[in-house]
Amino acid sequence: MFTTINPATGEAAGTYPELSAEEIEAKLARAAATFRAWRVTGLAERTALLERIADRFEADKQRLAEIATREMGKTLKSAVAEVEKCAAAFRHYAEAGPAMLEDRTFAVSTGTATARWLPMGPVLAIMPWNFPYWQVVRFAAPTIMAGNVGLLKHASSVQGVAAALEETMLAAGAPEGLFQNLAIRSDKVDALIADDRIVAVTLTGSEGAGIKVAEAAGRALKKVVLELGGSDPFIVMPSADLDAAVKAAVTARVQNTGQSCICAKRMIVHADVYDAFLEKFSAGMQAVKAGDPMDEGTDMGPLSSEEQRETVLGQLDMIRREGGRLLFGGEALPGAGAFMSAGILVDVPVEHAVAKEELFGPVAMVFRAGDVDEAVRLANDVPFGLGSSVWTNDAAEQERFVRDVEAGMTAVNQMLSSAPEAPFGGVKRSGHGRELGPYGLHEFMNLKTVVRE
Ligand code: NAP
Repeated sequence: MFTTINPATGEAAGTYPELSAEEIEAKLARAAATFRAWRVTGLAERTALLERIADRFEADKQRLAEIATREMGKTLKSAVAEVEKCAAAFRHYAEAGPAMLEDRTFAVSTGTATARWLPMGPVLAIMPWNFPYWQVVRFAAPTIMAGNVGLLKHASSVQGVAAALEETMLAAGAPEGLFQNLAIRSDKVDALIADDRIVAVTLTGSEGAGIKVAEAAGRALKKVVLELGGSDPFIVMPSADLDAAVKAAVTARVQNTGQSCICAKRMIVHADVYDAFLEKFSAGMQAVKAGDPMDEGTDMGPLSSEEQRETVLGQLDMIRREGGRLLFGGEALPGAGAFMSAGILVDVPVEHAVAKEELFGPVAMVFRAGDVDEAVRLANDVPFGLGSSVWTNDAAEQERFVRDVEAGMTAVNQMLSSAPEAPFGGVKRSGHGRELGPYGLHEFMNLKTVVRE
């Protein structure tokens, strides 16, 4: 059995049976059979289903959001927003998907070559708990549009969400086998990747899991998309609107209690505005209210689990032992639940390994940069390359950051967030491949070339 724990109380939130070997086999067989039928459906049937799924997410958003809040501690209002975003993603692929699948024809010496997008088969998705609906939906919506079918291995801690996702698809009229939840532990994943019925795999999660899944996919010669961790820089230059930058910096660091892959984790501030930024940013971070995630007035719920909080507190201890200074916060809050306060670290030892790790909690590192070169150097001084946010009204500086910050995404004068329309993904140890937009749809499709006279 899986037992999920409410991180706001430490109490059990639900229990879910783990699939037996026979049940896994039955789901694989159903996925293969459903794919044979789904791959030849017309685009109108697929888009109609996507619309109905969007309707179900919207109609049921309160109940779905409560399951997520109970299982991983995010505020209820942010969980509702997450479910609404899922509905928007289904609608996006329903509306824009057909155009993304149009043929393209090229002249060749023997006549014409037409590139046609065809589905590939059942895709395995291994997903994390932090945006437990959104991470899955950004895989599931394009999967359905492509004519593929999906199998989900969700994080052990959000099995209630995993079950609710499958129920929602079925309630919207998805054929059985189009999207199936596999309630399994991660030690079952290798065998699934090796199974001939699975054609590709996508993982959103940590570097460690990415390495294991990529190894297994490599052995089976199957395509893999990896959306891994990040330690995103947030660069502030003298020409920036400082108040807007500070406001975004606070949200970008504490959203989801600091547990987003694209949280701004390292603030890199030009020396000319460093003191002013730090003063305002400190005030903003100190005002962040941690508390009951079900309360409308709460800014930040608990961390997703007691273990997650221990990991973050351990990293903070290590940084302090190496010379970093915690200006305030970054402490476990007394009482039940995995709560901690928002905080700020300065004088972080940049060369130490711990400074290059991802800090998956609500504590920001703030660095001083003498000029644009140093800002770029600091931004790139981590193994990750997921997102980035740059604040400057100087056009040349903007172009410099867009060109030189090693990241899959750069937001200019705004907080980085994902959108159904735009590609999302990273470089370096943040993974490879893209989700969302037309690029995410095409990742798991066979681009067949048809040559004719
Ligand atoms: P995690 O431990 O890697 O878990 C993610 C998923 O992988 C879970 O379903 C987990 O299952 C599974 N898993 C773990 N080890 C595995 C293995 N050896 N083989 C196969 N599957 C395995 O990640 P996490 O710490 O929970 O999640 C946070 C991480 O995800 C952070 O690094 C964050 O930055 C990253 N993330 C990245 C993105 C992005 O788009 N780039 C988005 C969100 C989060 P169990 O739960 O059963 O262990």
